[in-house]
Amino acid sequence: MTGKRRAAVTTSPGGALRFAPLRLRPPRADEVVVRLAGCGICHTDLSCRSGVAAGSILGHEGAGIVERVGNAVRAVQPGDAVVLSYHSCGRCAACLRRHPAGCEHFWRLNFDFQRLDGSSGYLPPLHGHFFGQSAFATHALANERNLVRVAGDLPLATLAPLGCGLQTGAGTVINSLNLQAGERLLILGVGAVGLAAVMAAKLRGAAAIVALDHQRQRLACAGELGATQTLSDVRQIAQLPALDAVIDTTGEHGVIQAAWQRLRRGGTLVLLTGGGVVKFSHDRRIISVIQGDAVPQQFIPYLIAQWRSGHFPFDRLLRFYPFGAINQALDAAQTGEAIKAVIRFD
Ligand SMILES: [Zn+2]
Ligand SMILES: [Zn+2]
Repeated sequence: MTGKRRAAVTTSPGGALRFAPLRLRPPRADEVVVRLAGCGICHTDLSCRSGVAAGSILGHEGAGIVERVGNAVRAVQPGDAVVLSYHSCGRCAACLRRHPAGCEHFWRLNFDFQRLDGSSGYLPPLHGHFFGQSAFATHALANERNLVRVAGDLPLATLAPLGCGLQTGAGTVINSLNLQAGERLLILGVGAVGLAAVMAAKLRGAAAIVALDHQRQRLACAGELGATQTLSDVRQIAQLPALDAVIDTTGEHGVIQAAWQRLRRGGTLVLLTGGGVVKFSHDRRIISVIQGDAVPQQFIPYLIAQWRSGHFPFDRLLRFYPFGAINQALDAAQTGEAIKAVIRFD
């Protein structure tokens, strides 16, 4: 291990990140310090760049090696390879039902840059604890609950994006929709989340996997990964046969409305953007899904197994950037030039 601990922190709203020394307090009993090998860039990092205080450390698709553990940690030990995912409290009704994506403290633990009790393990002027990891840094102060131990011989920077975006897309198909062989699915927007849904729908043996996007490169990619039909114009939706399910990653009302018209009675529309309420009537279901309803410690190993057997080739979406080029990576994610940009730490 070489070099000093450092973090890429926010400056002005929406502005470039700058590097600052990373100073952490010692881990609490249930906390874990992870030396990062890689971190994916997710749309949420881009949107949060403008809404957070200067000095905030974003990044929530980390993977790395456990360096130090608190004295009550049992799930991992120093030297273990881990993928980091979203955080949850472990004590609320949803967590006790083994549905941590529905944790009643989800917002506070993942977006509030503090621990549940309001304290911080990051020394001022830094703000950390984003998704229980703040992984745009050489080291993350994580919690035992948001770590997934993985085999030590896997390329960790490649696995990093499984922790949020890919889990969300694939989990929506497999867990939330429980899509069945022979069903027809339309995916609105095929960035990394939508493409993960395409791959998962193929895994499930869907009869039709229709992808809509305005970027040709993404549609080509969707076709290679299993989409049976690609659409570049929202008006083409009207010609589709009745659909069993629609997954929206765009948040665009007009597109969602057009897709809703093609949904069969009893079909399901999934909203992944968590945005404004969309009002519809009748006997079709609208659900809003967080993190693909996945339990990371079960679902991420499942995705890794599918990847290793060639059925979830998500590595084809990745483009790597050194940590020093993080602003370039963020720009590439923003413009769509990279479907999934991943920071690599050396
Ligand atoms: Zn994310
Ligand atoms: Zn909880």
